[in-house]
Amino acid sequence: MILLNPGPVNLSERVRHTLLHAELCHREPEFYDLQDTIRQGLLEIYTLDPERWAPILLAGSGTAAMEAMVTSLVPSQGKVLVIENGVYGERFSRITQTHGIPYTVQRHAWGEAVDLEALAHTLETEPQLSHVAVVHHETTTGRLNDVARIGSLCKARGVHLLVDAVSSFGAEALDFEGWGITACAGTAHKCLHGVAGTSFVILRRDALPSAEARPHTLYLDLDHYCRAQDQRDIPFTPAVPSYCALAEALDELAEQGGWQARREQYRQLTQQGQKGLEQIGIGPLLPDRDSSVVLRAYRLPPGFSYNRLHDGLKQRGFIIYAGQGPLTPEIFRIAVMGTLSPKEMDRFLTSVAQVLETG
Ligand SMILES: *Cc1c(COP(=O)(O)O)cnc(C)c1O
Repeated sequence: MILLNPGPVNLSERVRHTLLHAELCHREPEFYDLQDTIRQGLLEIYTLDPERWAPILLAGSGTAAMEAMVTSLVPSQGKVLVIENGVYGERFSRITQTHGIPYTVQRHAWGEAVDLEALAHTLETEPQLSHVAVVHHETTTGRLNDVARIGSLCKARGVHLLVDAVSSFGAEALDFEGWGITACAGTAHKCLHGVAGTSFVILRRDALPSAEARPHTLYLDLDHYCRAQDQRDIPFTPAVPSYCALAEALDELAEQGGWQARREQYRQLTQQGQKGLEQIGIGPLLPDRDSSVVLRAYRLPPGFSYNRLHDGLKQRGFIIYAGQGPLTPEIFRIAVMGTLSPKEMDRFLTSVAQVLETG
């Protein structure tokens, strides 16, 4: 089955193969070697200095990394401004709300650009704000939010920036220093082409909470994980097979030319997909200039339900992805993560045409 959902992804042979050799005790040196390799590999993708940046590995999906950032880093007298323009921005709000952390929301319609003037105004008029939380690639619609400009507004006010890069880390530009990022959440099973079960936060070391700070969480306490992992240790049982796959996937990414090469590969596949779909009358929700290379949302053909399209394509070996919330009846989504090839994309386009013809 070819997976066109935004993770988990189709694995390369070499990454899949690691799963056969994943019986490993996490209290042995071999495991800590693996952990060190992954931590180093994650920093190398964006050439981050290990003295300044801490990669912190967690067991859990991408949401665990989002929740870890918010619950570990926002102090008790802090307040978060959440920027929402899709499902994942809204998830940040639900996390802060769940933990009783003071927050305020800058809300946009799904798919809309972030209003930078409004953001500047809020940062100016609410001095108690300590953190801004924003999604880089809002997978709901495929929009790539302008974290560079959001970050420079935060920097000017001395506000920490928490970024959900779960569906962009490894395949889009992320300028940690230049954009003023404090912490960034990512996961193994999207653009890094690993296996679900491990997520991570890349945290600026000088933003680690002090030892006396009381985090809002036990299991997701980044300080606890970071201290342990810096000393070749780990607080709790990790997703060992996911570690094995991630180490190999990071090697593969480096050999293939890093995030820039992956971005170009995704760009070409997405362009091929979009061109082909446009030829059969299916257009994108957002213009190219607002979109990531990773995923496109397309408008469903008039009179054609998502389920009919999905089921017809599944019969032909392809999994597409539904819209969420109010977009459910309007769109479907195509992600190009994983081992997807131009040939497979061609077969996909032929299959879409067949499904539309035969109903
Ligand atoms: C996939 C995704 C997440 C996390 O989802 P999980 O199901 O917890 O892995 C978070 N943010 C974005 C932008 C995502 O695309």
